[in-house]
Amino acid sequence: AAKTEERNAFRFYTPLMHADTRQRLQLATELRQALARNEFHLVFQPSIELRTGRIVAVEALLRWQHPERGEVLPAEFIPVAEGLGLIRRIDEWVMQATCAQIQAWDLAGVPPIRVAVNISARWFGHPAFVDGVSRTLQSRQLSAQRLLLEITESAMLQLGDATERTMRTLHALGIAVAIDDFGTGYSSMAYLKLPAVAYLKIDRSFVTGLPGDTNDAAITEAMLAMSRSLGLITIAEGIETEAQHDFLLRAGCMEGQGYLYSYPLKPDEIQHLLCPNQPPVPARLRLVPPKR
Ligand code: C2E
Ligand code: MG
Ligand code: MG
Ligand code: MG
Repeated sequence: AAKTEERNAFRFYTPLMHADTRQRLQLATELRQALARNEFHLVFQPSIELRTGRIVAVEALLRWQHPERGEVLPAEFIPVAEGLGLIRRIDEWVMQATCAQIQAWDLAGVPPIRVAVNISARWFGHPAFVDGVSRTLQSRQLSAQRLLLEITESAMLQLGDATERTMRTLHALGIAVAIDDFGTGYSSMAYLKLPAVAYLKIDRSFVTGLPGDTNDAAITEAMLAMSRSLGLITIAEGIETEAQHDFLLRAGCMEGQGYLYSYPLKPDEIQHLLCPNQPPVPARLRLVPPKR
């Protein structure tokens, strides 16, 4: 069906077409070739234990190095990939590349940390999902504890009955799940008690307003209280200021990610930060933004 749609789309393509639409079609064509042409790579953003500043995890984030346009961010191409039915193959590539990277860090003597991978609803809901993940882990001789699967609250909303079964199987395998972008998805809190769900990520939209915005502060505190009583680990996203850090630390949030500590980094930069032979990692890593 996707093929037919694509053909039709090109049949109606004319120079009179709005530039945006033309650009999207172009993007779609190029996205189909991106995997084969090896244009994807991963960057990794550290997750910090707020109390100590220690790096306890990294999150794999996908980047597309476009031959002419340079680096394209997921917000631009993930929705297109979803529309084209390409997202599963891309997610599988990300999983394989992440496990290969973990193995490479292990071989280089980098201390083992948790590595989070973002999963689309399309793949998470697929019957072959759990098997695919565990086979990728096995092929790299990695234990399930090394991986954290991030699934957004809104993606959970699209998933039906398969969710609970998938979570049960993941739990049995020892693979943990984080609910990403929590608070933005209009979803049921029932997701938080599913097996395998062990982490909750507070969306950046709430963190941005801290500490001044009293609504954001109240919502954040409520999420932290709920998370704590459910025995979940809370990770705050998008921490950019000392004041946000201080608020979250005092409110009992355990972990955080954000530009205050580190931008997403290349694998060798992560290795440099984590390698025991390097000088100790400072509590706060104020790094120079990557060149754009
Ligand atoms: P996310 O999983 O919630 O990832 C966090 C996003 O916030 C990342 O954007 C990260 O670079 C950005 N970020 C981190 N700290 C800060 C901060 O302090 N301030 C601001 N303004 N932004 C911050 P990125 O890499 O552009 O990814 C955007 C979204 O795309 C991700 O949101 C995730 O939902 C999706 N995504 C990324 N990689 C993948 C992937 O491999 N597969 C799938 N299915 N989705 C992915
Ligand atoms: Mg994420
Ligand atoms: Mg998120
Ligand atoms: Mg987010």
